[in-house]
Amino acid sequence: MSYTPMIQQYLQIKAEYKDCFLFFRLGDFYEMFFEDAKKAAMELEITLTSRDGGGEERIPMCGVPFHSSENYIKTLINKGYKVAICEQVEDPKATKGVVKREVVQLITPGTVMEGNMLDEKENNYLAVIRMSEDRSFALAYSDLSTGETFVMQVNTGWDTVVSELYNRPIKEVIVDDTLEQKWLDELQLQLQLTVSYIRDSECNEAIHSLVEHIHDPFLQETSSVLYQYLYTTQKRAFDHLKEVQVIELEQYMQLDMSSKRNLEISTSMMRKEKYGSLLWVLDRTVTAMGARKLKKWLEKPLLHVRLVEQRLELVEGVLSHFMARDGLREALQSIYDLERLSGRVSFGNVNARDLFQLKRSLEKVPEIIEQLQQFDHPEITKLSNQMDPIPSLVTLLNESIEENAPISITEGNIIKDGYHEQLDQYRDASRNGKEWIAALEQQERQATGIKSLKIGYNKVFGYYIEVTRANLHLVPNDRYERKQTLTNAERFITEELKEKEATILEAEEKSVDLEYDLFIQLREKVKAYIPQIQRLADMISDWDVLQSFATVSDDNNYVRPSFTDSHHVQLQESRHPVVEKVMKDETFVPNHVTMEDDKHILLITGPNMSGKSTYMRQLALIIIMGQIGCFVPCKEATLPIFDKIFTRIGAADDLVSGQSTFMVEMLEANHALQQATDQSLILLDEVGRGTSTYDGMALAQAIVEYIHHHIQAKTLFSTHYHELTSLADSFESVKNIHVRAEEMNGHVVFLHQIQEGAADESYGIHVAKLAGLPDELIERASVILEQLENKDPKHTANDSEARSLEQMSFFAEEPSPPKKKVKADPIQEKIMELNLLEMTPMEAMN
Ligand code: ADP
Repeated sequence: MSYTPMIQQYLQIKAEYKDCFLFFRLGDFYEMFFEDAKKAAMELEITLTSRDGGGEERIPMCGVPFHSSENYIKTLINKGYKVAICEQVEDPKATKGVVKREVVQLITPGTVMEGNMLDEKENNYLAVIRMSEDRSFALAYSDLSTGETFVMQVNTGWDTVVSELYNRPIKEVIVDDTLEQKWLDELQLQLQLTVSYIRDSECNEAIHSLVEHIHDPFLQETSSVLYQYLYTTQKRAFDHLKEVQVIELEQYMQLDMSSKRNLEISTSMMRKEKYGSLLWVLDRTVTAMGARKLKKWLEKPLLHVRLVEQRLELVEGVLSHFMARDGLREALQSIYDLERLSGRVSFGNVNARDLFQLKRSLEKVPEIIEQLQQFDHPEITKLSNQMDPIPSLVTLLNESIEENAPISITEGNIIKDGYHEQLDQYRDASRNGKEWIAALEQQERQATGIKSLKIGYNKVFGYYIEVTRANLHLVPNDRYERKQTLTNAERFITEELKEKEATILEAEEKSVDLEYDLFIQLREKVKAYIPQIQRLADMISDWDVLQSFATVSDDNNYVRPSFTDSHHVQLQESRHPVVEKVMKDETFVPNHVTMEDDKHILLITGPNMSGKSTYMRQLALIIIMGQIGCFVPCKEATLPIFDKIFTRIGAADDLVSGQSTFMVEMLEANHALQQATDQSLILLDEVGRGTSTYDGMALAQAIVEYIHHHIQAKTLFSTHYHELTSLADSFESVKNIHVRAEEMNGHVVFLHQIQEGAADESYGIHVAKLAGLPDELIERASVILEQLENKDPKHTANDSEARSLEQMSFFAEEPSPPKKKVKADPIQEKIMELNLLEMTPMEAMN
């Protein structure tokens, strides 16, 4: 037995969309069959049924109503699936046999356009990653809802690609077979991205114009692939796609993935949410566009002092005038999401309400300009004059769109009177007709003497005259024709009323149709304004971020940092921007950070929980804040521009890739040592802790030495190994600082104060004493400590722990010179007596 023609058609289409749920339109439903049906029933929690499809067994089937399909699609997309919408593309009444069906749109996590499927404060990117023959990568990503596209070349390996993806709201990645399987696994498992393969794509003239300015052929090709995917899946033209912006990674500060994660730039590490992140502190934006822009700035701290100063200058201007800032915030608040609106205009799914909102927003622009001029700041005034409120578009929308227009664009009441003559005529006809009917009601009441006589309307019967049962004897039977009987009344129609009804309904139908046409024309006219709207949106979102910076800076007493050409770091009373905000009972203790030109390495010692890693992170966050153009949590701040930040902080076990903590530690340290320059910042928190003491200490010391000899990056190195503090004696550029724990009324208290010099090495024993451990134990610990400090292995021979540590070490200590030995081995003694330089090789062998 073979399948019915419809199921055959289904299977044919499904074969082209194997990786998608195929929503197969059948009347008022989208149906799914076979495996799709089983999976969808589970994911969507809908009933799985079956139908006869001509085959031997019944076919599993489930479906969702067309009218409420959006929510089901959203659920699937949010789970990372793709949905192919397959519609009937010819009129079923006009065809014999199976009606023709085609996939009209492919909705994927990276190509979502519908408003309620998107997070308004986040972009929604679709990305393409390709590798060239010389193993450099091209990464392009685009937000279909806002029309922006970026492309970059990555020459520093796959890890950089991953850190560029990390924290960016990329939802889907398109790849080809140049990428290795383990990378694809990483994209799917670790970054939880939907991975799609390049589809057979149609080349397109429109694409060419968007990418032709890109010089590098590999980047140009990659951008084209991205656009081709958009056209092939969406099957329509887009007017809102902007020219691709080429991002040169060298123009921005580099932060690798683990640093972004460790420093909790846009999500907190524990809860993986915005709360507790730097973004959370800085986000005082009042528009969705501004919120998205802030994230972009945060992803890309600047390297050019001139650009940083430009932003800081504007923030200072906005900050210094509280009243105007308040006014600016208020004006910005009523601005609609113009970026996504442009997208919807171009996509063709904008309604009259959206256009009304567009008008409202544009009307607010002069107010924004006025507020900006209030700041009385030459640079702000200059920029505000570049804002175009697009008056001709405002006039157009003012004349055309009805204020209380419904969501639907097919039911009329969207176009204003006076906008179009023919429409006015239809409306007059219908309005006159209605007046005529009102007059008729009066007439009929008088003619019949029935005071309660009413003229009404319903969709099924049209206009009717209603007479209550008690008055039926007064009805003029020659003129009234019975139409419908109710319990208490009868409904009639007259010849006259029938005629008028026809005129009214015809006029109404025509006017609704005409309104729809006029709306579509209007939408086309608005399309022509898209580039202007986008430019305006860009400026508005800039102002929103700048006012956000000014607002947080004012509220939290941040200062404007100064940038220096030397390598000198001087922060007076600096604070951690996030920790100070989340602390409830205590107050944050500010600390200075001082690193002179020639001091590159700060060794930080001190007990656990004293604030070492907070201090290190706070420096990194302050640097980032400064280089995005925000003020910083200090009393005074002087900084050089940093090109890269590397961190090895905390126990961020890489559980997913199954690597040990220590391996991750070494990988991250290596990454920093390979990539850092003398303009970089390196934060190393307790590196070496993951292995045995000597081993770890040896590595830690060697790392510090390496940085000192070869990199000279500004480095903060916190350590438990007190021995390392002596490095400051041998190396000019190494400086010790420490955090002390104090004793107060017999309790240990952390003052969180950073001080010059190394910590007292016995602080651990000191804390143990305070904790009340037995005196005997404390004394013994002091003796062991003294022995360990002597560093002679013989001294520790009795100490079983030290011995076992020695055995575990990869780096055995160098054998001591023989003269120190108390009782040397006789053979060893003999060998020592030989003069190797005067022997033949044969003698030596013997
Ligand atoms: P360490 O790295 O030395 O183990 P942390 O930096 O993790 O210590 O700090 C431990 C806790 O101390 C933090 O959770 C924070 O609440 C508090 N803390 C750290 N620095 C300060 C400070 N400067 N002022 C107030 N509290 C602080």
